[in-house]
Amino acid sequence: METSLPPVFGKEIPLALITPSKALAIVLETVRPAKITSAPLDKALGACLAQDVRADRDLPPTDRSAMDGFALRAGDIAKHPQKLPLVGEVAAGQSCKLKLAPGTCVRILTGAIVPPGADTVVRLEDTAEDGEWVTFLKPAKAGLNIRRRGEEVSKGRVVLSKGTVLGPAQIGLCASVGVASPRVHARPRVSILCTGQELRQAGESVRPHQLRDSNGPTLQAALKEAGYEGAPHEIVLDDLRTITARLRKALSGHDVVIFTGGVSVGKYDFVPEVIKRIGARVRFHGVSMKPGRPQLYATVSGNRHIFGLPGNPLSVLTGFHELVLPGLRRMSGVPAGSCRPRVRLPLARSVRVKGGRMRFMPARIVAGKMGAQVMPIPSRGSADLVSGAQADGVYTLPRGAEELPAGALVDFRPWRMWP
Ligand code: AMP
Ligand code: MG
Repeated sequence: METSLPPVFGKEIPLALITPSKALAIVLETVRPAKITSAPLDKALGACLAQDVRADRDLPPTDRSAMDGFALRAGDIAKHPQKLPLVGEVAAGQSCKLKLAPGTCVRILTGAIVPPGADTVVRLEDTAEDGEWVTFLKPAKAGLNIRRRGEEVSKGRVVLSKGTVLGPAQIGLCASVGVASPRVHARPRVSILCTGQELRQAGESVRPHQLRDSNGPTLQAALKEAGYEGAPHEIVLDDLRTITARLRKALSGHDVVIFTGGVSVGKYDFVPEVIKRIGARVRFHGVSMKPGRPQLYATVSGNRHIFGLPGNPLSVLTGFHELVLPGLRRMSGVPAGSCRPRVRLPLARSVRVKGGRMRFMPARIVAGKMGAQVMPIPSRGSADLVSGAQADGVYTLPRGAEELPAGALVDFRPWRMWP
């Protein structure tokens, strides 16, 4: 849909509005995965695997005991209670030299190798020990409390596939199979530029016409949480030359620059003009969504990208999670289809809005009788970070929708993990 907005400096700036899903598709098609490198495990949290990780041996590598107790032959205690002589011990971390003779038992500790000849482990609680003898109070089935060699995975099988984002469990699994420096995609370096002459830093005092910069800290934290550490943020005055200089500098050391504010058509919204001046290619400017309509995306050579998010805090959070973070994830090697997670869930109560653009509405996840539900959060609009701070994410209301009853299924799009 082509539309025109009011003139700026006497000229018309046409914002060609595209749908949010088209905007996301453009971002995902335009960014390219970054180069492949090796990351030691202590630097790999949040990175995306560029290789399949395979088991270097069977897991578990031998039959292991899952309990503290005694290893024996189940047939020897078919009649019970039954006393057997205690002839030895195997603990975790010991190689197992003994072979179990019929009619005997050995003490075994969790994780220890089950000695050849034994076919079951009886837990300590079901026994009574008396010096050299152990009384078994109940019968036991063969195979009980034994983790079989290779039952989790056999040698050579893929345990983590290419494209997996490494979290704590995945990092632990790499360690388990001896992959100390997995091949991963490098992660883009990001810089945040918050435009606005009204802005002050959190620690500074503010006068009535001033405002503390919340977008810088928000984006820096959101990036860190998503695995993009150390993104600097700075406040930039609304001035064509200043913004141009800061953008050039940011692009010299970063792959992605995120602007907040100054992207619309107001007198002091210089970001679109700056982007044109430095010769960047605008891929879109204007997305038919609420909040966040004037969003801008441009590219420069060398797989470098510029995002412009309108300045209000909820527009920033929405635009970041819907377009910027998916782009960063794609650059990190995440498959395109997994770059923006969403889940269909029922509404906990009915909602009414004025129709129009597709809406991204803040919501919490709550526990309903039948499972998770989306609880809409009343919000005073895109400047209302007090409501935004209660949200686990947003749900979408399609274009033109005005009312949805409780229980209607909506697309919930997380901003964070929820309990
Ligand atoms: P803009 O997109 O520049 O027109 O900004 C829209 C509104 O967002 C401004 O009037 C401010 O109230 C608010 N805003 C802009 N930048 C920030 C920021 N960094 N932190 C908090 N609020 C901001
Ligand atoms: Mg501004």
